[in-house]
Amino acid sequence: MTSTRRRVLKAGLALFGSAFLPRAEAGPGGGSRLILLGTGGGPRPRKTNSAAAQVIVINDAAYVIDCGDGVARQLVSAGIRLSQLRHILVTHQHSDHNADYGNLILLAWISGLKTRIDCWGPPPLQRMTELFMEMNAYDIRTRIEDEGRGPLQPLVHVHELSKGGVVFEDENVRVRAALVDHPPVVPALGYRFDAADRSIVVSGDTKPSESLIALARGADVLVHEALYPAGVDRLVAGVPNASSLRRSILSHHTSAEDAGRVAQAAGVKTLVLSHLVPADDPAITDQMWIDAARTHYAGKIIVGKDLLEI
Ligand SMILES: [Zn+2]
Repeated sequence: MTSTRRRVLKAGLALFGSAFLPRAEAGPGGGSRLILLGTGGGPRPRKTNSAAAQVIVINDAAYVIDCGDGVARQLVSAGIRLSQLRHILVTHQHSDHNADYGNLILLAWISGLKTRIDCWGPPPLQRMTELFMEMNAYDIRTRIEDEGRGPLQPLVHVHELSKGGVVFEDENVRVRAALVDHPPVVPALGYRFDAADRSIVVSGDTKPSESLIALARGADVLVHEALYPAGVDRLVAGVPNASSLRRSILSHHTSAEDAGRVAQAAGVKTLVLSHLVPADDPAITDQMWIDAARTHYAGKIIVGKDLLEI
């Protein structure tokens, strides 16, 4: 991978659309692109970053992992055509990971998608998909009749996952999942993508997890959720209607320090801290996140930023 690919897609560049990007950006010859679409933890809308989502693009096929609020717009901002959408993988059914799941499918179809989408994730993904289609039946029917589109529903294939193992394998990538530990949300999954050029693991939300360590063993890139415990009190002070939020946050996430432990135990080359909690506290600097993870990890550490390509 060239150094020019490791950079934030500036908003100004994205304005010119994907046609402006050099062809090499598409990863010819099976090269993979990983773009962080949303790096903030929690569903609360923020100025500074979007909710959890990332995309891996290989040979023009987009694999979206998690669909937090704004995922479709973030894909467009990253220069990814929504019609490239091929697979959606949801790690768990929390709204910061699924709020725009249905919207991504609908908006991709409206943006020109006419090929199959496979959707993977824990139950009740099937029911959620059906209800979303029902909720938007008027709009979908109107666009079919008025705009001459083909039907949406036959394009969408849902696969519910309740355990780890191989999820699917196609011409670009082999995808595996592991059950991770994010009570009370069960099941919660982490995903591993083994492409021709490298392996990428996305932890989803989890406490420090032995199964995630096993899934990530030897991976090139681990995108791991990260919590900065000292910032949680300030965070919960701003959310007055959730009396047990502090206990909840601290009980089912991984501190940046522990994310470093996990990365070291798994032997990954690069640790990307994402799903940052708190996500928008200016008192917590990038260096503080890095220093915490560095305590137990000797590899490369990246603090996730929306639209950062890795
Ligand atoms: Zn989350």
